[in-house]
Amino acid sequence: MTEKIRCDACPVMCYIAPGQTGACDRYANSDGRIVRTDPLVMLSHAVQNGTRLVPFASRPWAESADTEPLPTDVTLTGIGSGTTYPDYKPAPFIVSSKVAGADMVTVVTEAIFSYCGVKVKIDTDRFLGPEGAAVRAKGEVIGHVTTAEYGSQMLSIGGVHHLTGGSKPEGRETCATMLALCNGEAAELVIDGGAVVLVQAGKAPVVDGKPEYRMRVGCGSATIGMFAAQWKGLVDEVVVVDDHITGVVSEHQAGKVLDWPPTGIRIKGHRSTPGRYFRVSEPGLGWGGTKLTDPLDILGPWKAEKGARPGLTLLMVSTTGEDHGYFVLDQSLIPQRQPLPDHLKPTVSLIAENCEPALCTVMFVGGAGGSLRAGVARNPVRLTQSVQGGRTELTIGGAKCFVWPGGGITFMVDVLHLPRGAFGYVPTPALVAPLEFTLPREDYLAMGGHAEQILSLDQVLREGGEYTTAAELRPRPDKAS
Ligand code: SF4
Repeated sequence: MTEKIRCDACPVMCYIAPGQTGACDRYANSDGRIVRTDPLVMLSHAVQNGTRLVPFASRPWAESADTEPLPTDVTLTGIGSGTTYPDYKPAPFIVSSKVAGADMVTVVTEAIFSYCGVKVKIDTDRFLGPEGAAVRAKGEVIGHVTTAEYGSQMLSIGGVHHLTGGSKPEGRETCATMLALCNGEAAELVIDGGAVVLVQAGKAPVVDGKPEYRMRVGCGSATIGMFAAQWKGLVDEVVVVDDHITGVVSEHQAGKVLDWPPTGIRIKGHRSTPGRYFRVSEPGLGWGGTKLTDPLDILGPWKAEKGARPGLTLLMVSTTGEDHGYFVLDQSLIPQRQPLPDHLKPTVSLIAENCEPALCTVMFVGGAGGSLRAGVARNPVRLTQSVQGGRTELTIGGAKCFVWPGGGITFMVDVLHLPRGAFGYVPTPALVAPLEFTLPREDYLAMGGHAEQILSLDQVLREGGEYTTAAELRPRPDKAS
């Protein structure tokens, strides 16, 4: 057969030549049939030495089924299952199973998400860019810097406005960047007025070409709170330099409780509460996420009447312990840098030891509360209610997810919990992600589930599960008489 045939698994409706794939590479024309190009992924929950294992099938099911027995608890994921379009078509696989003696149904599909985004958590206190600044990939705006969290900078990437509300290149780059991040690949992001960051799920961020190793132990005030007792008697003053809250031990409540004597230090910054200072510097790539390369820049003149004296010792340290300096006041009460004494080295090392490795975390956020529900049940709102009520468990490629309360089915999942390559795309543009809805059979029937489409797992393994496209309505070459 030499003619092109039409794939109708998404609104793009590609005409695909024999032996070729469609625009998304997920479907191909194989001997006049539209076929999904990736195998359906199954998983099993095995417990070995107390550890929960999730081995994923590495071969097509037909081969596996012929040569080795399947685990009794095998379940299907949506990965490789295929997409249905338009949405009233039943989902590609609706499979019955027994779970702890109960009759269950799992509906699997690969859903097309125009409404989706990626939240990126980057463990660094370095300045990546102002809150609200545009994040770009290959020059296109694909997201923005959002509210920083404790020890981490946060980016919001994607979303329907960048996917479909701007120019075609903007939509294309947004989709490509989200796809790369969701499939565990690296993406270079350029932040307006800020840094260039290389982001990859589960890997250390690289900020302006420099890998980040440590996530800060806490803000400057928290660091004082944690370690003040260990500095007592070893040094006269400690300043923990931090872009958010710089801490001064002699003034801080932790120091007060320890009867730490005043030192006459003066910090240039906005004093919030005793021993806690905001805005000691501009944010940057220096000490503690400030612009500082010399921490002494934040000190004003020392006050003799408040306790400053020649010989007074001062430790200045960043919130990761990465940057530190030891100073002694001279006769004019000017701090003079000296090597860090041996007796203070363990306390600086302790800050570093308490820092966790800096990583990038990529969370995919998708909205499954739309039309795809019709592929699950004829009364879609009942599926929403069932998911929200906890009767239906939603998993993403076998991974547990967080479902946001309130309306709809807005879920969030750590992309590292899915097998690599679980995400796809279509050029509308939109991301494709696997979904599995598992619920009691009686609930499924009550919500208007596609009862006639329910197959046992054995049937799926024996017969396959390709769904009918327009091309399928004609006789298959191997069936044609
Ligand atoms: S882009 Fe859409 S129509 Fe084209 S092959 Fe992929 S799923 Fe089919």
